[in-house]
Amino acid sequence: MRAVVSGAAGFVGSHLCDLLLSRGCEVVGLDSQITGSKTQNLTQALANPHFTFVEQDICQPWDCPGPVDAVLHLASPASPRDFDALQLDILRVHSVGMWNMLELARTKDARFLFTSSSEVYGDVQEHPQRESYNGNVNPVGERSCYDEGKRFGEALVTAYHRRYGLSTRIARLFNTYGPRMRLDDGRAIPNFVVGALRQEPLTLYGDGTQTRSPCYVTDTVRGLYRLLESDEMRPVNIGHPDEWSMLDLAHFINRELDSDAGVRFAPRLHRDDPNRRRPDITRARTVLGWSPQVQLRDGIRTMARWMQECMEKEHGLTV
Ligand code: UDP
Repeated sequence: MRAVVSGAAGFVGSHLCDLLLSRGCEVVGLDSQITGSKTQNLTQALANPHFTFVEQDICQPWDCPGPVDAVLHLASPASPRDFDALQLDILRVHSVGMWNMLELARTKDARFLFTSSSEVYGDVQEHPQRESYNGNVNPVGERSCYDEGKRFGEALVTAYHRRYGLSTRIARLFNTYGPRMRLDDGRAIPNFVVGALRQEPLTLYGDGTQTRSPCYVTDTVRGLYRLLESDEMRPVNIGHPDEWSMLDLAHFINRELDSDAGVRFAPRLHRDDPNRRRPDITRARTVLGWSPQVQLRDGIRTMARWMQECMEKEHGLTV
């Protein structure tokens, strides 16, 4: 199989490239490096003769020479920290960029996989979230560039399927974490891991009762691969069904990484910050035979080792 991956130098994209290569695929990785980094994330892939990297903004026209069997569309800034500065880039990549990638799949007669997000559910009123839940998203809120971008992306993928018969897949990812997240990514888990390694108090926005369900990245990309191989064209939740409050998660990470610095509280960042998130993964279990395998403890420890190495390289110091 020859696959094109957009967002290849990003956190999830680079792990997906590694998985595809390990399964014998030829991979063309695209990235504008607006938030991803080839040197940080693609060292392993670049050493593989079956991998090609193309620095490319997918909002600009691009043609792929040769056959393509699958287009996997992951490109997008994904951290709420970027939602202010990069809001137009995020909306552009989910409209113009997405359109370009869908056209590529259509002209090459390739399968198309879109990594959507639990953000399509917004501030949920149904819990846990099944794929049939239509969500509660504020179209003019502080997160709307990403939430509505993902919702528009799902609509566009669906239209290509209905209009052109394109073979499409939609994965809704829930809070993926692991090595290769940027140290300054701004999301809760990288912030907590970096803070605990530095023996600094972990900051909770609000009272810390808001919940998320963290899923380790190798589980996530295994789920994406299963979905790509399957015939399932309906959206599929890919996430871990264990739900954590941010307060419990912060204490857990402090304990695991031997930090005594505790936590501190700061005002909630966004008014539209979702209160609860937990996937119902019945569809992924039954249709894909997939469920996450990595325990939070193991995932956090692996991520912390990687982040510590990055900090040592950056500063030439032991933290
Ligand atoms: N959060 C926090 N401290 C941090 C970073 C995030 O308390 O250092 C909170 C954030 O306000 C949100 C939750 O943790 O309620 C998850 O945030 P994250 O950015 O990881 O993911 P998302 O909101 O996109 O699910």
